[in-house]
Amino acid sequence: MVNPNLDSVTTIRPDGSHRILHPSDAKGRFNTWRRAVFAILILIYVLLPWIPVRGAPAVFFNAAERKVHLFGHTLVFQDLWLGFFLITGLGFGLFYITALFGRVWCGWACPQTVWLEGVYRRIERWIEGDGPKRERLAAAPNTADKIFKRVLKHGLFILVSLFIAHVFISYFISLPRLYSMMRTSPLENWTAFLWVFTMSGIFYFNFAWFREQLCIVICPYGRLQSALIDDNSLVIGYDTARGEPRGKPGTAGAGDCVDCFRCVQVCPTGIDIRQGLQMECIGCSACIDACDDVMTKLKRPRGLIRYDSQNGLTGGKTKFLRPRTLVYTVMLLAGITVFSFALSSLEPFTATVHRMQGSPYYRQDGLVRNQFQMRLTNKSAEPASLTIEVSGGDHALTWNRGDGMLQLEGMEERVLPLFVSMSAAEFAGAFPLTIIFENPDNGHRVEKTVPFLGPDQPANPPTP
Ligand code: SF4
Ligand code: SF4
Repeated sequence: MVNPNLDSVTTIRPDGSHRILHPSDAKGRFNTWRRAVFAILILIYVLLPWIPVRGAPAVFFNAAERKVHLFGHTLVFQDLWLGFFLITGLGFGLFYITALFGRVWCGWACPQTVWLEGVYRRIERWIEGDGPKRERLAAAPNTADKIFKRVLKHGLFILVSLFIAHVFISYFISLPRLYSMMRTSPLENWTAFLWVFTMSGIFYFNFAWFREQLCIVICPYGRLQSALIDDNSLVIGYDTARGEPRGKPGTAGAGDCVDCFRCVQVCPTGIDIRQGLQMECIGCSACIDACDDVMTKLKRPRGLIRYDSQNGLTGGKTKFLRPRTLVYTVMLLAGITVFSFALSSLEPFTATVHRMQGSPYYRQDGLVRNQFQMRLTNKSAEPASLTIEVSGGDHALTWNRGDGMLQLEGMEERVLPLFVSMSAAEFAGAFPLTIIFENPDNGHRVEKTVPFLGPDQPANPPTP
């Protein structure tokens, strides 16, 4: 095992090649809790596109129809401004959690950790054994046993990667369509096939080989941690005052750390937490479990490595209420309030009216006619009946949809022509035309105003 130091990245050798880590399994209370959290999160990731909420999947980005379904709310293209609040809200949420609890997101809930630790590493441990065994296997010559284990492991990795790619794509393509695609030739749906193929390749590369490098080299969040946390944020740290100087049990004057290196052996990013808080620490708590196990065996109190603030680790008190957390709380609450209000006031249907291409108006049979195109979207899963009314102030108008209700199926989007006419003899200049859509069942009403155009001069000027 390599003794990590602060001057080099643990996963890169001096010649620049990738040093593959073989972290040992850490057994303990945090590991048990993490496994439970991973199982719940994987269930959530997989089930969200399956669970129907008000007739649509709980979370679904309908690429074909350019709609987003979010827990019973349907957002169309015009509602995309809400995405700003959602993304900034999630960003502030992460800032807030980081200021209070350090990198708890990375260690407990980031999909990279959840799939890597919750599935891929478990498969690896099941086939090749714990860290030291895997290290020996990696260094061993290619025997039949090693090749069998490697083929089995990578075969399962590929299957899991295919599964995750299908889960991922089910957030964008509806499940019945995805199922029918899976039963037809890839050539018939080559775009979706290419997506699944590419995503599976990326997942396999990432989880089978790249692994912790995504957190260390690519993810910007770890680099932000020094700006987001302070001495009162909860982090995973080593109690230097209690642990130092290190020494074997029974050494006179030695602290509690027996320099057994268990905390380094279990670390998925290969660092030594005793060197202080480091960008590579993803807050996975494996070193806490490993050290607690050693302390328990030595009949010493647990917590030489523990969740604590930098203040707490140096004997001070942790302050949860501080300017940084208060500012983040206010911003987070404001964001949640605005987003909830905006979401609750979303329209159950939307309507747009545009003038049709071509001549702005037509004259025929003594009439002036304007032609429009209406786009109506029912954003609810229930069918909706709409009335359409056209008003031009005092002008007597006729239109082709004046015959009663228009039916829209749940989630249906329909594009329809609207022809509005008036007597050419009475046309005395352009005027605003109001088109009113109403659902009498819920009273929701949308009004759109467009100009009614005609010839500049009245068709038959009145004789003086
Ligand atoms: S130092 Fe500890 S908490 Fe941080 S990544 Fe390593 S094992 Fe996990
Ligand atoms: S596991 Fe605990 S006792 Fe062992 S080296 Fe790490 S801090 Fe020291």
